[in-house]
Amino acid sequence: MLQWLKNLFAPKKCAICGKQAIDARKYYNDTEEPVVVCRNCTEYAERRAFRKRS
Ligand SMILES: [Zn+2]
Repeated sequence: MLQWLKNLFAPKKCAICGKQAIDARKYYNDTEEPVVVCRNCTEYAERRAFRKRS
């Protein structure tokens, strides 16, 4: 019943390293899916041609 609430507040996982993206940046990946990327992986994300979402 409260699962949707948990999902709403659950920390997102980084699309690259798979860890919880605490300081997450929003990107679109190479298949145009919205993903989050942690701060450590933003450099890698940009090399992978991920596009920033605002
Ligand atoms: Zn990461």
